[in-house]
Amino acid sequence: MTAPVRTQGSQGTRGSEELIRAEEPVLAHNYHPLPVVVARAEGTWVEDVEGRRYLDMLAGYSALNFGHRHPALIEAAHRQLDRLTLTSRAFHNDRLAGFAERLAALTGMDMVLPMNTGAEAVESGVKVARKWAYDVKGVPADRATIVVAADNFHGRTTTIVSFSTDETARAGFGPFTPGFRVVPYNDLAAMEAAVDETTAAVLIEPIQGEAGVIIPEDGYLAGVRELTRRKGCLFIADEIQSGLGRTGRTLAVEHEPVVPDVLLLGKALGGGIVPVSAVVGRREVLGVLHPGEHGSTFGGNPLAAAVGTAVVELLETGEFQRRAAELGVILRDGLTGLVGKGVVGFRSRGLWAGVDVDPALGTGREISERLMREGILAKDTHGSTIRLAPPLTITAEELRGALAALEKALG
Ligand SMILES: *Cc1c(COP(=O)(O)O)cnc(C)c1O
Repeated sequence: MTAPVRTQGSQGTRGSEELIRAEEPVLAHNYHPLPVVVARAEGTWVEDVEGRRYLDMLAGYSALNFGHRHPALIEAAHRQLDRLTLTSRAFHNDRLAGFAERLAALTGMDMVLPMNTGAEAVESGVKVARKWAYDVKGVPADRATIVVAADNFHGRTTTIVSFSTDETARAGFGPFTPGFRVVPYNDLAAMEAAVDETTAAVLIEPIQGEAGVIIPEDGYLAGVRELTRRKGCLFIADEIQSGLGRTGRTLAVEHEPVVPDVLLLGKALGGGIVPVSAVVGRREVLGVLHPGEHGSTFGGNPLAAAVGTAVVELLETGEFQRRAAELGVILRDGLTGLVGKGVVGFRSRGLWAGVDVDPALGTGREISERLMREGILAKDTHGSTIRLAPPLTITAEELRGALAALEKALG
């Protein structure tokens, strides 16, 4: 007797509606996904269990900057799967040094602290900044402060939601970690007033993604750099969503002549395959960590390092940054043409846009559902703002198709 051949995925013959219903009693309700059940994907396209195809205009919140299953990344992962997957940091592995060297060179930094998820990179950045404040700056024990911006999104751990201003993300999760000061984004005077001799770091997103792709005024990032240098505290840029090609540059801070002390990277660093994040910084800062003071069982594992190295190799070519910049013009022009036709305003940089839809036409959720019926997967941030962040591998034709579908969904 031979085993039956399955042409479908491992879920066999269960359809979308049945699978959605099956999640309800067994899956924690911390998400409200669009009613699409994805079974496979390639490049910019995903396919659901019934074989319907959709253009992915969310790209895993920028975790899929290189599209689904980029051949170079899949090959790197396969090769590594056949050799070595996990050692823990109790031993060295033969992939980590190369990954750290290439990532440091790509970002112009000295040292790399490998972690897994974005939230872990943020947590690690907070710990490193505090330790730097005590060991190097001389802040009295347990007095260090970190200045952050309102409407930030840095992840979901208890310490990170401690400095969130989103009540939905915070309510019911206290008590919170002290030591954070929140100032309005894009307001240098408020930041100046909040930074004092206890301040270890200013931690901001160069562009606030979850807040609706909020782009600060020209000069803000340079101002944060000048202020932090003058006041003697660190500038930590959370580039987990904005970085690695999305805005038309390797880093979003590069749109101004700005080099932070510490960069937080994640999402696309894992190539859409495994979670890979990192704190990247100057030797004077990351050098404060000594053996045993911080760690992660999975951080810097050989599979992550192999995929991360392949991601860095793709970015070294400059091709994806160039695509984001060039196609970003089509995105911006297309959205400009929709202003007054259902779009009340938008912000974009590279292949990244926050589109404010006329609330009279429906909530962001309703517009996302209408887009889904037009074959486009996108997600509202909050209110009536839709975030567009396609894979950087999208073609001009696909992008024009997405803009046409948006016009139809708003019509
Ligand atoms: C997604 C994100 C995080 C958190 O990353 P996770 O991998 O979800 O923990 C942190 N900062 C920013 C700016 C993000 O977009």
